[in-house]
Amino acid sequence: MHGTRILEEADRLMTVCNSCRYCEGLCAVFPAMEMRRAFSDGDLNYLANLCHACGACYTDCQFSPPHEYNVNVPKTFAIARAESWAAYVWPQAFAGVFARNGVAISIITALSVAAFIFGFAALNDRQVLFGIHTGPGAFYALMPHNAMVALFGAAFLYAILALVMGVRAFWRDIGEPVGTPADPGSLWQAMKDAAGLRYLDGGGAGCVNEDERPSDRRKIYHHLTFYGFLLCFAATSLATLGGIALLVGPAGLLVEKSKRDPALIDQQRTGMDVAFILMLFLTSITGMAVLVWRDSAAMGPLLALHLGVVFALFITMPYGKFVHGIYRYAALVRYARERRQMGHT
Ligand code: SF4
Ligand code: SF4
Repeated sequence: MHGTRILEEADRLMTVCNSCRYCEGLCAVFPAMEMRRAFSDGDLNYLANLCHACGACYTDCQFSPPHEYNVNVPKTFAIARAESWAAYVWPQAFAGVFARNGVAISIITALSVAAFIFGFAALNDRQVLFGIHTGPGAFYALMPHNAMVALFGAAFLYAILALVMGVRAFWRDIGEPVGTPADPGSLWQAMKDAAGLRYLDGGGAGCVNEDERPSDRRKIYHHLTFYGFLLCFAATSLATLGGIALLVGPAGLLVEKSKRDPALIDQQRTGMDVAFILMLFLTSITGMAVLVWRDSAAMGPLLALHLGVVFALFITMPYGKFVHGIYRYAALVRYARERRQMGHT
């Protein structure tokens, strides 16, 4: 007996797949499945988070609908993943709220913070908001450096704390004792697998999107988004390059998402995905707008908007699609450990 209906279904599918094993070369999920004869709730949550949602095992499966076995691994794991994230969320009170209203909550948070900064500056000194500020430190005319560090440092630390608590719950759920450090070899292997999105390629042919013709588009847009995000943080000199990647990547992911075969996805919770991708796009476009109009009177209001969006991005990170990267990395570490323990490199 499992804790939820979707885990019952995941157990049924893994039992069918373990007899079939046709898909064992497609990704990490099937080799990890083959290491087990029975599946606990934690095992199924581990496999669900190890799945990269490439869709290949659905199109390749001779038992997918309308076959009576009704095997749909990508969709079942997508629902199981989302339910697992809600179960690991810290604090628990936020579990269901964001999944249902992700876009609205993100936008309202961004606009509220922007309006607060805007109103505060306008009431104090309109010249600060609408004046032209140039040279080094011009951005701090709107909000002093220390206030900016305090506000965003607090939001960032809160996000880190919530994410650590979530991963702790995941790690414990999948059967790894909390406090047991993973070995460096497994951490490094998982980092390489995550950095190259090794398992988002449908076994080499590519990701299945709107039809049965696989392509690498999702992988490319995902890389642009991820590395664009890192570049924006890495160095100011690279921020423009990162900003462009962070415009193209999320826009591409949103287009690909709109075209995906509904049979492959969890249609109940698309708000979670869309909210995070949208906030990344808005972070980039408002940041680019600040850079372009930095020497004009529009800089103050644009900066207020950008800061509001960045604050909302940080504060909603632990409750949206961002967490998929964290849990998937932890699942890849576990997979690397299991393979090493079995003598594979
Ligand atoms: S998804 Fe279908 S083809 Fe693939 S292992 Fe499972 S039952 Fe076999
Ligand atoms: S959807 Fe892709 S990553 Fe997920 S189990 Fe199927 S083949 Fe593996």
